[in-house]
Amino acid sequence: MHLSDIQRAPKVVLHDHLDGGLRPATIIELARGCGYRALPTEDPEALAVWFRDAADSGSLERYLETFAHTCAVMQTREALERVAAECAEDLAADGVVYAEVRYAPEQHQEGGLTLDEVVDAVNAGLREGERRAGGRITVRALLTGMRHTDRSLEIAELTVAHRERGVAGFDIAGGEIGNPPARHLSAFQHLKRHNCHFTIHAGEAVGAESIHEAVQVCGAERIGHGVRITDDITVHDDGTATLGHLASYVRDNRIALEVCPTSNLQTGAAKSYDTHPIDLLRRLGFRVTLNTDNRLVSGTDMSLEFVHMAEAFGYGPEVFEEFTVAAAEAAFLPLPERRRLIDEVIRPGYAALR
Ligand SMILES: [Zn+2]
Repeated sequence: MHLSDIQRAPKVVLHDHLDGGLRPATIIELARGCGYRALPTEDPEALAVWFRDAADSGSLERYLETFAHTCAVMQTREALERVAAECAEDLAADGVVYAEVRYAPEQHQEGGLTLDEVVDAVNAGLREGERRAGGRITVRALLTGMRHTDRSLEIAELTVAHRERGVAGFDIAGGEIGNPPARHLSAFQHLKRHNCHFTIHAGEAVGAESIHEAVQVCGAERIGHGVRITDDITVHDDGTATLGHLASYVRDNRIALEVCPTSNLQTGAAKSYDTHPIDLLRRLGFRVTLNTDNRLVSGTDMSLEFVHMAEAFGYGPEVFEEFTVAAAEAAFLPLPERRRLIDEVIRPGYAALR
């Protein structure tokens, strides 16, 4: 499959962090505008390389440090609108037709914005980006609570309050070690009482027990990463596999895994593209979706993730269509909108490539 075909192919991304995908030139301009002087360089290309190198350290904790710079320049209504609009534009230019973009509102209050103002600014930016992309993309926001803070219930309430205005669901993110998802149970119970969607980052730095807690204690509908579900799968010499009860539950209930291969290599959750568990999980029938996680920080986009997977496993358009349909099915959209996306955008888009 040629790169131009991959770029043209319709894609769906469910796991993309707003603060991990800024344009380097925008970071530099915003830093100048707000007087932020801690950037390692003011050259856009060098800055892009710096982010990628810092993220390549192999530690989730260090990887997360890179966000101090991006969040520092996202503290005003104008900055948030601009970053959100550019995010939608960049995703559309990469052939993404539907995206759920997540961010933690509490990390954008240093300039005095209220949580509602943060959400309104990002929503306005996303609508502007959709408009600039000529309607080729639909973007919804997911509001993220941070695992190490105690504001998750507040962010869950914010999610419910903004659900009719472009917010599709909730997530928790941040350092997994020492911050189990059940610490945020009151947030998840609030969302459940209000019939609201949520996903949880789990099974990235911590093993299957984190996924178990996210699914069975907290009630996550999707799992961010989830690759450590392989802890509960035994692969035999003849290539067959035996699933434990948790792995079976996740597969049999079609709980989507938001897999982000490049990010996993950077944080050490996987060793190489060739040995990434995505192929095993796919063959075993898990609902696997392919995602970017952080486009700037990981130096990636959806097309590049497709290229890496094509090189590692020989995937062609059939498999990419499968990932894309799986992602559309797992989207936090009403069923008729998911069906429309699949029947009117994704299926015809792949048919045109063949
Ligand atoms: Zn993530």
